[in-house]
Amino acid sequence: MPAFVTRPWRYSCAFVVGLLLAGCAPAPEGLSFPPDPPSADSDDPAPADEQCPSNAVAPAEDRPVIALEFSLAENLRIVTGSETLTFTPDLPTEELVFRLVPNSPVSAPFGNLLTVTDVTGKEVIDFGYESADAYPTTPGGLLVVDLAEEVAAGDIVEVSIEFELELGDGTFDRFGTADGVSWWASGFPLLAWEPGVGWSRDPLVTLLGETSNTQAADTTISVEAPEDLEVLMTGAQHRPESAGDGRRVWTSRETAARDVSVAAGKFDTADAVAGDTEITVGVLPDAETDAAELAQETASIIEDLEEFFGPFPYDTLSIPVLPDFGGGIEYPSSILLASETRVVLVHEIAHMWFYGMIGNSQFRDPWLDESFASYAEVLEGSSELDTADLDIPGDVGDSMSDFLDTDEYFSVVYGKGRAALSAAREAVGADSFDAALRCYINAQAWQIAVPEDIATALSDLPEAIQILDDAGAFG
Ligand SMILES: [Zn+2]
Repeated sequence: MPAFVTRPWRYSCAFVVGLLLAGCAPAPEGLSFPPDPPSADSDDPAPADEQCPSNAVAPAEDRPVIALEFSLAENLRIVTGSETLTFTPDLPTEELVFRLVPNSPVSAPFGNLLTVTDVTGKEVIDFGYESADAYPTTPGGLLVVDLAEEVAAGDIVEVSIEFELELGDGTFDRFGTADGVSWWASGFPLLAWEPGVGWSRDPLVTLLGETSNTQAADTTISVEAPEDLEVLMTGAQHRPESAGDGRRVWTSRETAARDVSVAAGKFDTADAVAGDTEITVGVLPDAETDAAELAQETASIIEDLEEFFGPFPYDTLSIPVLPDFGGGIEYPSSILLASETRVVLVHEIAHMWFYGMIGNSQFRDPWLDESFASYAEVLEGSSELDTADLDIPGDVGDSMSDFLDTDEYFSVVYGKGRAALSAAREAVGADSFDAALRCYINAQAWQIAVPEDIATALSDLPEAIQILDDAGAFG
């Protein structure tokens, strides 16, 4: 979820500010940087190939195929959209469930609202909403589509959804408008299927954090917007084409995306390259950020993190720099960056592996993305390790419904989780820990991981498991 650094206006995030601004210090003693690559002739017994593939496994052949079309109104506050979905469940089902993130109690009070206007498809007989603790003025937090008959595992369902998204005033959130810029991420009905488990009907929470659980989908995106705006979004973008009437259409594709982020504004852009990854940064007029410098810094961070986690998961990374609402929010191959702070940039880039490539239930197991993205800050040298964080009360492995408030959530999952992973690495040695973590990354790529997958990867390093278990990571 977001790294949040400032503006504790609605949330009392003072502790988080302290955590995240801990400094741009070098890596603590005992944490080598960059690490030595795993030795090919190591004496350690190699785990089975299935538990430790040498490269990231490919996305599932039968993953969802999603085509999104957005049209941004001239007032920059209304997005009219459609979503066409081809879905192959691996368990039988008589319904489809989608998460409506804009209707959450965090986002809706600022004027964000997602309304479904129609759902069509050969098997569709009706659709409606379920609350899932959505903000009461909204129609609901879940869209439920009833199918005429049960769909067998392995059969294909195709539906089209029409919707309207209203964007509220800009805040530190995934939706908003400000002077000459609009952004929306999770701004469409999110298919909420977990393979092997079924539908995720988790409540929308009042904490500042994500709660989605989505498969990586083969996703194409089309955005029509006023022609004076530049669009930066998830996926490899093509050059815009004129749509007439003073508007242009921007398109992109991401072959394995769990979600989509779009920003449209008067961005000045600059590019950089990190290995096989093309980076595009966009800054608004009068922004203090130098787009070219930020693009180069991003490339440098990607190269640093690749030493630990393996190749960057996407061909592209776009970073629209929003007004300084304080923080950053990760999306597949895109980051909504609303902070000048390096540690936020490192954290969000690390999420491209932990959330983007290795999925998780952000409601049930938030530590699988947040603790690891926070741990990456320490590896990369942007955050200092504070071993006292291991004594923070609370279980790292708790769900979003177990935390009293955002402060507690941040301190336990970000702070204690980061400390526990760092302590585990130090206890068993950086090389062994990094190699085991690489097994987890490669084995769980493009899937939805669970905590047991971490334990499996660390099975030859019981001391590391013990430290994580003592921190409550495994429930
Ligand atoms: Zn995060």
